[in-house]
This record gives sequence, C-alpha cells and structure tokens, in this order.
Amino acid sequence: MMKINAYAVQNATSPLAPFVIQRRDPTAHDVQIEILYCGVCHSDLHIARNEWQGTTYPCVPGHEIIGRVTKVGAQVSQFKEGDLAGVGCLVDSCRTCENCEDDLEQFCEQGPIFTYNSPDKHSGGLTYGGYSENVVVDEAFVLHIPENLDLAATAPLLCAGITTYSPLRHNNVGQGQKVGVVGLGGLGHMGVKLAKALGAHVVVFTHSPGKVKDALRLGADEVVNSNDEDAMKKHLNSFHFILDTVSAQHDINAYLLLLKRDGTLTQVGVPPEPLALQVGSLIFGRRNFNGSLIGGIKETQEMLDFCGEHNITADFELIPIQKIIEAYDRLVKNDVKYRFVIDMASLKK
Ligand code: NAP
Ligand code: ZN
Ligand code: ZN
Repeated sequence: MMKINAYAVQNATSPLAPFVIQRRDPTAHDVQIEILYCGVCHSDLHIARNEWQGTTYPCVPGHEIIGRVTKVGAQVSQFKEGDLAGVGCLVDSCRTCENCEDDLEQFCEQGPIFTYNSPDKHSGGLTYGGYSENVVVDEAFVLHIPENLDLAATAPLLCAGITTYSPLRHNNVGQGQKVGVVGLGGLGHMGVKLAKALGAHVVVFTHSPGKVKDALRLGADEVVNSNDEDAMKKHLNSFHFILDTVSAQHDINAYLLLLKRDGTLTQVGVPPEPLALQVGSLIFGRRNFNGSLIGGIKETQEMLDFCGEHNITADFELIPIQKIIEAYDRLVKNDVKYRFVIDMASLKK
C-alpha cells in the first residue's frame, strides 16, 4: 500500500480539504497512473454533498482523470510506463453478466464499481477518485488518450464526453436531424460539439441569457432562451431528439412537446428532486422519454478516438486544487465555461 495526497469531504456539509488516502500497489493486471488533470463534474458536487443520498464518507471525488502510466503489473499488455492514460467513471464490474458481455459495464447486474464511493474489493473500503496524486486501476478499465489533443481539455471527455456521445449514438443522431441540447454546462457544451460533429442541426436551450454567444461559438445553429415561452413555441413538434443535461428542477414537459412524432428525449442530468411528467406530452405524438448513464469502456474508447479524429475537446478553466471550493460554488451558480479542470500538480504545493 502507498500513502498519497488527496482532497476529500468528511460529511455532507464539510468543504473539500487535504486528506491522505491509501492506494494499493499495482497487482498483475493493474496500471498505476500519475494524475495530471482531473475534470470537475456536477456529479462530484451532488455526491460530495450527498444530494442523491447514499454517499459514504470520507469521499474523494473525481472521475475525469488524465495522467501518465508510472507502473504496470506483470500481466498488463495494453499499457506501458510513460503512456498517456485516462480513467472515467468506472474502474471495475463483474465482467460476466449480460450487460458486461454487451460492453455495457455501466449497467453491470452486480453493480458497476464506480471510480469513487463504490465498494473496493482490494482494500475492503471504498474507491477514491481523481482529486488525488495517483490512481491504480485494472487495465481493462483504462483508456488510451489520442496524442494530438490538449491533455487538460481532454479530461472532461472521460465523463461529460461519453455521457453525451453515448445517447447521441444510441439514437442514431446524424445529418438531416434537428437535435436539442438543454443546459449549456459541462455536459451540454460537449453535447453541442458532438452532435454537430455527427452532422445534426443543433439547437441549444439555455436559461442563462449570457450564454447565447458562447452557444453559437461552440457550434449551435440556433439558441433558445428557455424562459421565453414564445421562443419555445416556435419549436413545437419539430425535434428528432433532445438531450437534457440540466442538474436542477425544471419542466421537462416543455421539452417533450418540442419532439416530433416518435421523437425521443433522453435525460442525462440528475436533479436531486423528482421531475413532474405530464403523460399527455408523451401520449400525443407517441413520444419517448428515457435516460442514459455514461457509457461502457468500449464506447468510451470509441468516443475518445472520434474526438481525436475530429479534434474535439472541452472548453475549460484550469484551477489549482486549492480553488476547488470556489469552483463548486460557481458550479451551483451556473458560472462555468464550460468545465473546471484541476491541475493536479497543485496538489504537491
Ligand atoms: P453543469 O456544468 O453544472 O451544467 C448544468 C447546466 O444545467 C447548467 O449550466 C445550466 O445550463 C442548467 N441548469 C442548472 N440549473 C438549472 C435550473 N434551475 N433550471 C434550468 N437549467 C438549469 O453540470 P454537468 O457537469 O454538465 O452535469 C449536468 C447533470 O448531469 C448533473 O446533474 C450531473 O450529475 C449529471 N450527470 C449525469 C451523467 C449520466 O451518466 N447520466 C453523467 C455525468 C453527469 P444553462 O445555464 O445553459 O441553462
Ligand atoms: Zn461525471
Ligand atoms: Zn456485470
């Protein structure tokens, strides 16, 4: 075991603060990665503050990890010392259930092992995330990072990228389709870039009038202020697909009504409170409403390769770990353009 520096929360109301954790020494199939950058996902905040219930403390968040391999176990074949490597939201699963066999480890029937706040079979404790010096992960859950992309800007792909890519692909988003992205935050801005790269006509819905210019710069074809009822009405019955990334309570029926017949709205944002559904908005138009959870390892690699080919990364603001409390406060105020990424070198200071 090795003792390393990290940032943790000790309960739902304590701020993130320095904390020493233990990592296992790499076993035969493990890769040890020195963490260079870690993105800050709104899920980190939801979980740190126990907004979804179920958080166990101490909790070290962080699941958008980019780093360099510093050590590999004897049986590791896909990585060597010095390689770039990424770790997203998953670090293990049963690997034998139907969903794992279908490369959908995020839906593992035994329960996927998330990068943090999951039971850790190695330590008997909990998994600890990327707000830390290093991470030790089975190579089957480690991603290859395209060499041409900026590393800090690539970190958010490990969660925000795959969480938006997967439902866009699952719904065959492409040319000739009108696609909506609700909420222009970390996930939303990746959704815009990816839907655009897939060839769709992209419309952003934002409740922050200050983000209109950015939405267009990021590639949106149109932007709608979601507080403007008349502007919303202009889009009734017109969308093939809508991706909802909103992290707080909001009216989903207003968006369901914008779908064409048989259109689909996929919910990826996870507001802590239940959302009210008017079933009429589904029944009239035979519309679909579903959800999506990150993506499997195979699809995450496919997404990274796609981003490498199309030169797609996140727009980010680099922060030292010492600014993480401020970053969380700004996340709650929707004041992030469009992902905070922690420069993990700051942890050594
Ligand atoms: P984020 O950067 O904070 O973005 C969320 C966006 O939602 C905000 O920028 C804002 O966009 C909009 N919003 C926030 N409060 C709102 C309100 N009261 N009314 C209307 N719109 C509001 O968060 P994120 O990191 O992208 O994550 C978004 C959500 O997805 C979180 O709940 C997170 O936990 C969840 N998530 C889910 C998965 C999954 O696998 N399903 C994976 C990762 C994250 P505008 O200012 O443009 O309106
Ligand atoms: Zn996330
Ligand atoms: Zn499984």
